[in-house]
Amino acid sequence: ERVSESDERELLEQRHQLLGEQTWHFYQRPLHVERALGPWLYGVDGKAYLDLYNNVPQVGHCHPHVVRAISRQAKVLNTNTRYLYRSVLDYAERLTSLMPEHLNACIFFNSGSEANDIALQMSRLISGNHGAIVVEDAYHGISETIRDLSPKSRPQTANHIATLGVPCSYRGPHAGKENSAELYAQDADAAIAELQDKGIKPACFMVDTAYCSSGVIDVPEGYLALVEQKVRAAGGLIVADEVQAGFGRLGQMWGHEARGLKADIVTMGKPVGNGHPLGVLVTSKAILNRFIEATAMFSTFGGNPVSCAAGMAVLDVIEDEDLINNANQTGDYLREQLRQLATTQPLIGDVRGQGMLASVEFVTDRVTKAPASEQTFALLELMREQGVLIGSSGPLRNSLKLRPSLVFSRPQVDIFIQALDKCLSQLAANH
Ligand code: PMP
Repeated sequence: ERVSESDERELLEQRHQLLGEQTWHFYQRPLHVERALGPWLYGVDGKAYLDLYNNVPQVGHCHPHVVRAISRQAKVLNTNTRYLYRSVLDYAERLTSLMPEHLNACIFFNSGSEANDIALQMSRLISGNHGAIVVEDAYHGISETIRDLSPKSRPQTANHIATLGVPCSYRGPHAGKENSAELYAQDADAAIAELQDKGIKPACFMVDTAYCSSGVIDVPEGYLALVEQKVRAAGGLIVADEVQAGFGRLGQMWGHEARGLKADIVTMGKPVGNGHPLGVLVTSKAILNRFIEATAMFSTFGGNPVSCAAGMAVLDVIEDEDLINNANQTGDYLREQLRQLATTQPLIGDVRGQGMLASVEFVTDRVTKAPASEQTFALLELMREQGVLIGSSGPLRNSLKLRPSLVFSRPQVDIFIQALDKCLSQLAANH
């Protein structure tokens, strides 16, 4: 081991001094990483970690095609975006060619938060309304206005926000009912009425169709289309936040398509540049032009030549390596293996997901569904010791959030399942 524990404590102390005393790390002893390739992260101690958590390197860490594209463009031109250059147009054309026809114009930023902030501003301008509807434990970003739309980080609901419950098929008031989509969608009627009582109308419904901060749930078929109808009838726009769900994560290029939702505005972050900071908002030409006319909006870095080269290279890899197909095949295999493991590991209460997104919900009792939150927390540490990185999610902190890169393969699923089996047996023995 080249870096000792005391060196690490010093790094941590320095971080607290210079970057604030945040609890940004997942593990009791934070993971100290040095390099990465494909689905693997490597610690400074040389140990390999299989990465099923990190949803930024969508096409695998440090993909050579993306790295080459970034470095080639950085050598030639990177500039303030007020000039004419080809690459931003090529990228916008390619990206919109992958979207439904009415989504045909882009505006570029540097993060998902910025894209969502502008999406809200745009929705307000177009609808003439001020309110917003979001999922009860959604997370959409860090700006002042978007924190109001992120009950996960600002639980005190602002006056102009109304929330929808999570349409969960495992827990929740309508789980298992045949018409659960209709029943859960009644939340939208209640949310609209709640705003109306205060003289407020919704400008938009903003949704992460992967429900990543809600425990990665299986949304009842038709639910989001019903919510969409109700929000539109109340004068609101639909904003699909594709920061988690986009770029093949749910087994189709876009999460909103996979979930049967028609969006007026689509926002993207994290995977767009496979780690290079890039945020995008896609909407119709008519909406974008009205917004630009009203605000003269301009982002200095947004859509710069290097960012566009990164974005373009990600699309190349998704296509060339047939990664959406792999997301479905390997993702299905992952869920099959998890369901198989459930036959011998009683802590597994539910297995969910779609495409290359999966979740396991842990319970101490399958009948009462009592959450195994403590065990889930302990599991993350045990899995790290086995060299596997996973995350937890959900209001009860008893669900796993598994988001491997789209290049994940069956042998890697097997490594994960073996480690999980071992750690769950260890936990069962300790409790
Ligand atoms: N939307 C969703 C669904 C997210 O998960 C995140 C980041 N976790 C964001 C928006 C914000 O993106 P960023 O951190 O790039 O601002």
